[in-house]
Amino acid sequence: MAQGESVFMKEQFALGIDIGGTKIAYALLNKEGDVVDSTCDRFNPNKSSSETLSEIISQVEMLTTQNDALLAGIGVGCPGQVDVKSGMVKNAVNLGWRDLNLKEEIQSRLSAKTPVYIRKDADANLLGEFYYGAAKGFSDIVFICIGSGLGCSIISNGRLVAGATGTAGGIGHIHLEGNKEKCPCGLIGCAETLISGPGLVNRMKNYFYSQANDINPRLLDNLTPAHVVAAASTGDQTARLALSDFSEGLGHVIAICISLLNPEVIVIGGGLGQSAFAEIMPAVTTTMKRHALPHTYQNLKILPASQQSSAVGAASLVWKSNIDP
Ligand SMILES: [Zn+2]
Repeated sequence: MAQGESVFMKEQFALGIDIGGTKIAYALLNKEGDVVDSTCDRFNPNKSSSETLSEIISQVEMLTTQNDALLAGIGVGCPGQVDVKSGMVKNAVNLGWRDLNLKEEIQSRLSAKTPVYIRKDADANLLGEFYYGAAKGFSDIVFICIGSGLGCSIISNGRLVAGATGTAGGIGHIHLEGNKEKCPCGLIGCAETLISGPGLVNRMKNYFYSQANDINPRLLDNLTPAHVVAAASTGDQTARLALSDFSEGLGHVIAICISLLNPEVIVIGGGLGQSAFAEIMPAVTTTMKRHALPHTYQNLKILPASQQSSAVGAASLVWKSNIDP
């Protein structure tokens, strides 16, 4: 710091961290909600939570230093069952984390006394869209997050819906008729086993290997959801079949959401949800209309999420901590 300069002259920033099953995203946000810096790391499930947390702190320090930023706080979005008040992550299956007090673990590793706010990842993502993105100005919103899993967050009549035990929005484990895939949760046929990155890849592989004989079963080892979407858009029949099943499944899940909650807008987010939005929407809409009454979708808007970093919502927890819906 230059001579005569005080901390009061520095601009304050909020740092958002979105912890996912495959990546950890970071975004530094100013008070206006603009991303001034962002970065991304791979989430390594073979590392202990302690090792991952040390890496997270290193990234926090690096982003803070290189932007000469004074942190007003850190917001964290985390999958699984998250207790907002205590900061306890009870069970994040995708991360292999159980009964971890994320708030305390982060605070204890920081050199400065910085406030830390924790929320379920889908809720943090929805708040980012609600304050700065596609859901701005709406008060009845369903946010559907499609990435390594299928999650949902709800704002109804301007209030975030948590449910009795904080698990509202668990659409990933609604049963889809005819789906026989085993879900890591223990149930059979959960929506997430089809409507997710791994689900889409798995469906493509099933079609591919059932159509072709004498093919090396390792041929599609490196297939990604992005490959499937790209192949479908260029007319590959197998990819189109897989993406069609995916879209119909999503249309069915949306029909349930709109019948139950009557939202003004559905925002589709998550890496796969955003990137595949244009490709899947025609089939999603057709299936939704087949399974819901017209008054539930007549004025409904279905929009792609507009934030490019999933960590923006987590950062918004810092600026909006007093007025969370
Ligand atoms: Zn399940």
